[in-house]
Amino acid sequence: MNLSTKTLEGEEVYFQVSGLPDRCPQCHTAVHPKLISQHVSEGQDEVYLTLLCTSRRCLRPFVATYRRGFNHRDAYRLTSTGPRTVVHGSFPESIKKVSPTFCEIYEQVESAKADALKQLVGIGLRKALEFLVKDFSKSEHPSDAEKIEGMRLGKCIDSYITDQNVLQCAKRAAWLGNDETHYVRKWSDKDVSDLTLLVHLTQNWVENFMLTKKYIEDMPDGA
Ligand SMILES: [Zn+2]
Repeated sequence: MNLSTKTLEGEEVYFQVSGLPDRCPQCHTAVHPKLISQHVSEGQDEVYLTLLCTSRRCLRPFVATYRRGFNHRDAYRLTSTGPRTVVHGSFPESIKKVSPTFCEIYEQVESAKADALKQLVGIGLRKALEFLVKDFSKSEHPSDAEKIEGMRLGKCIDSYITDQNVLQCAKRAAWLGNDETHYVRKWSDKDVSDLTLLVHLTQNWVENFMLTKKYIEDMPDGA
């Protein structure tokens, strides 16, 4: 998208941005925002677009910040939108109870995603996974809590996760999570969207496991 603006000195500046944000940072609705005005920073490293959310229930303005790439001829890339209201993800009760920290980190991952901080999303997911797996293991083996906390994630999965569905998903999520924090990728055909899906699957299987266990305990055989 090609745009232009005037500096305070009246000089006309032409620039290109990678595209408009597709989500409002305040109501979190998918929108095609309306461009109101554009400004460029001193030194022209950043450009700011003032946009209006077109959702009838919102209609609030927000600012999208774009940063210039290393190559000066490249389009400016979207780095953040704000002001932002935080959406609290709807986590199942059992997950909130077993690992509140997982829920907290996962919400921050969502914010990073909305701010197009792609590199941080993978690292955040890896950390969220570690809390989910370790907190779940601790809830199943409370007497080993200290040992579990100090363990490597892969070892914890192998030693304490017995449910095959949780085990197989958590293991693969950990492989991809390690890729996110290392210099060289081992699983080159997989990316952060696969990791997102695997963490989500792990969360679902943990929830299923705990709900099933609860009902078996509540309603013992032949009672
Ligand atoms: Zn909005």
